[in-house]
Amino acid sequence: MRAHYEREHNRMNRELNRREFLKGIGLATAGAALYGCANPLRLAAKASKDRPPNFVVIFIDDMAYADVGPFGAKGYPTPNLDRMAAEGVRFTDFYAAASLCTPSRASLMTGCYPQRVGLPYVLGPNAKVGISDDETTIAQMLKPLGYATACYGKWHLGDHAEFLPTRHGFDEYFGLPYSNDMWPRHPENPQGYPDLPLVEGERVVAYDPDQTQLTTWYTERAVRFIEKNQDRPFFLYLPHSMVHVPLHVSDKFKGKSGKGLFADVVMEIDWSVGQILSTLTRLGVDKNTMVVFCSDNGPWLSYGDHAGSAGPLREGKGTTFDGGQREPTLFWWPGKIPAGRTCSEVASTMDVLPTIAGLTGAQLPQQKIDGKDIWPLLEGRPGAKSPHEAFFFYQGYALEAVRSGPWKLHFPHGYRTLGDGPRATGGIPAKYKQTKTDLALYNLETDIGEQHNVADQHPDVVERLQRLADAMRQDLGDEAKKMDGTGRRPSGRI
Ligand code: MG
Repeated sequence: MRAHYEREHNRMNRELNRREFLKGIGLATAGAALYGCANPLRLAAKASKDRPPNFVVIFIDDMAYADVGPFGAKGYPTPNLDRMAAEGVRFTDFYAAASLCTPSRASLMTGCYPQRVGLPYVLGPNAKVGISDDETTIAQMLKPLGYATACYGKWHLGDHAEFLPTRHGFDEYFGLPYSNDMWPRHPENPQGYPDLPLVEGERVVAYDPDQTQLTTWYTERAVRFIEKNQDRPFFLYLPHSMVHVPLHVSDKFKGKSGKGLFADVVMEIDWSVGQILSTLTRLGVDKNTMVVFCSDNGPWLSYGDHAGSAGPLREGKGTTFDGGQREPTLFWWPGKIPAGRTCSEVASTMDVLPTIAGLTGAQLPQQKIDGKDIWPLLEGRPGAKSPHEAFFFYQGYALEAVRSGPWKLHFPHGYRTLGDGPRATGGIPAKYKQTKTDLALYNLETDIGEQHNVADQHPDVVERLQRLADAMRQDLGDEAKKMDGTGRRPSGRI
């Protein structure tokens, strides 16, 4: 027994020495060295000023730019998101790195363009591909620092066991492994999908679950996870299944907006955000927790009154116009992120991973990533600029557009758009038609809706953006030019 205590004492001393050493060299991870060890130290460290921060990433499915109060939603309240914006920073030019679910999630989890990690397309049930074991997720990056990690919601980076969150850095998983419309009740393709699994860890606990409860179930688990891990650093990833069709809402919010089902569902998401923020505040860990709110892609416009609104932005989900990829994004961290600011610098889902690395001292992935640390933008450092000279808009492996500063250049490409028919209602989608754009240059500062092609007036800008695109084509390729690129890595495959 005594030998055990001596061993434990010596081990704790070594860890304390390591902490002093890390402090000495100015590493933000000093506290992290302690978290793998015994409970008394964890508790002591809760109050320590060098305890590494917690992270909560709330990722909504198919929520559009103007669906919440801070981004112009009208007619229904989102008080908790309003609070988050009032107490944090609102990003007006924040992009998902794709306009569809799987690739967008790949970019958030890995800090890479989805083309780099081999996941540029949406995965269906039983897909033979998924996230590669060679990629490093945010959760895997944080595990060596002693973080508790959980994912509650829609994963969509592969549904075979080796692709699930539990194999990619998450201690816990509960949710739908892919989209909630990939089930036998699909309005257009009921024969196309097997029963929809609800997964706990790696085990299916129900098929075709009651979707009215999804937002509540995810939220309750999130709150319990925060309560359980309040004395150690944690990373909570909360990718809601809503507001993706088929829309479902619990009795708590059914009819509450008076503006239809979509607004009810948004209000329940807002409630969920409120549960997270109030739990952090109640437990006294709010000042040590950064909360991110974002969405994976724009509105699925063909669903009419069951889709959101991109407001002034052009088009929606499945296109590389800003309506497809510019997301309503908030960052919240009382005392660290100044309250009530707006940032209009270009940033992206890919920046979340390296920003978390910068804040914790976690080791960045060994392989090349595309995201950048945007902490200077988050903390409102005077004069801070976007770290991205350019942001690239891919559809599959085709490079369709590039943005640099206010300028966005579209290369000639096809895209889907709605016809002039009546707006779809009740969850039955209208049909898209295919159309195309020629080369077109837009100034997003003066023309947020990408309406006025000014390529002829700015040949120098066109040339500069063409050059940036050419460099990217060498790296990640461009299907439209029959180029593969040298920087692509394979996805996982069974
Ligand atoms: Mg989506």
